[in-house]
Amino acid sequence: MKYMSTRGGVRGIPFKDAVMMGLADDGGLLVPESLPDVGKRLADWRGLGYTDFAKALLPLFIDDIDSRTLDRLIDEAYATFSEKDVVRFVEAGDVSVLELFHGPTLAFKDVALQLLGGLFAHILAERGGHLNIIGATSGDTGSAAIAGVMGRPGVDIFILFPLGRVSPLQELQMTTVPDANVHCIAIEGSFDDCQSIVKTIFGDLAFKQGYSLGAVNSVNWARVLAQVVYYGYASLRFSEPPSFCVPTGNFGNVFAGYVASRMGFPIRKLVLATNENDILARFFHSGEYTRGEVRQTHSPAMDIQVASNFERYLFYWFGGNPQKVSDFMDVFSRTGRASVGRIPDDPLIVATAVSNRETEEAIRSVHDRCGYVADPHTAVGLMAASRHPELRPMVCVGTAHPAKFPEVVDAVLKPGSAVHPALERLRGRPARRTILPADVEAVKAFVRTRAGH
Ligand SMILES: *Cc1c(COP(=O)(O)O)cnc(C)c1O
Repeated sequence: MKYMSTRGGVRGIPFKDAVMMGLADDGGLLVPESLPDVGKRLADWRGLGYTDFAKALLPLFIDDIDSRTLDRLIDEAYATFSEKDVVRFVEAGDVSVLELFHGPTLAFKDVALQLLGGLFAHILAERGGHLNIIGATSGDTGSAAIAGVMGRPGVDIFILFPLGRVSPLQELQMTTVPDANVHCIAIEGSFDDCQSIVKTIFGDLAFKQGYSLGAVNSVNWARVLAQVVYYGYASLRFSEPPSFCVPTGNFGNVFAGYVASRMGFPIRKLVLATNENDILARFFHSGEYTRGEVRQTHSPAMDIQVASNFERYLFYWFGGNPQKVSDFMDVFSRTGRASVGRIPDDPLIVATAVSNRETEEAIRSVHDRCGYVADPHTAVGLMAASRHPELRPMVCVGTAHPAKFPEVVDAVLKPGSAVHPALERLRGRPARRTILPADVEAVKAFVRTRAGH
């Protein structure tokens, strides 16, 4: 399988190069040049366990890693999960919650980042060289990215977060990691400051190349690919095609479901659930994609302004026409607003936005009805799922363990409703972080002294 850019400037890229490239060199996102059709294999694949299913599916997209190595990378990635079959289905009333958060940091991002960490290490070992990953986080992504690469040879990771503005548990998940290749930087500023510092550093091409900087953000194709697995796997557990309800921020998760459907897995609908940051819900209702102000909500991992994976969806919506994608993204980046000219009418996707109050209501309701404790992100999905009773069977994608967000869950239910031993163990562990001013030069100077070669 070869990969191409959604903007058409890059083609014929093998998988391993696509992983190392992240963002395509023409500014677009990488997508497979074609999508494999799995229709004929479904019967054989029903009944496989999660990792065996992953070993059957991933080679359709990865033909430049031999199968023994790929199998080993898959086994290693998912051996870190506490759930024997990686994911867990829990019935909550008339929906099944597909819990994806049984990995090391208790959020669904582990499913992709555990595999991506192994892929990076494998490719670097083969090709030589060193990768210095730099990213900014407001919580979830940082800890999952760190857990994906901690202790791996050939990789250092620098994670910037706003000092005093990350939840205490999420900060401990990053700063208590003892491995020497992990560098946590608390910035005296906001999350936006962190992001803009990272962006500026990546814009300094000499620095970027000199220090072999890489990113682990959700535009990496390998992350989407790892997520296609659970949609395919879950879709084969039902006797009729299920719908999936997906708490959505950057569109990575729901886009993986879209790919699974296009490959022929039996999926009836995807319910795209946003919080009050509803740029995507507005797009699916109007065809207009308009940048707004970011609002802080109960589901911070979905507090986004612009959904980085949306461009991949546009590529398919425009029938694979890179020119149309380029034009749309060009207008959007110049004006903060672009339109496809009509209501998108995607037969697969229905979109809906959920307020903070409704998120609280969903946490309370599913607890009262079923005794299930949902985290605020999953609760956004549960509320959205309840608006579509006609879509059953319904799988609601569970994206984080509730103990990661005790502030909201405990306030709605009662104190102590959401605990997890792995998080409790972090309290009192030695923590390491470097405090730096919100200044690009200060961060660069720090990277210079710590970066591996
Ligand atoms: C990242 C994240 C999301 C959003 O996923 P996208 O792929 O960005 O749409 C939802 N819930 C949790 C807990 C997350 O960490």
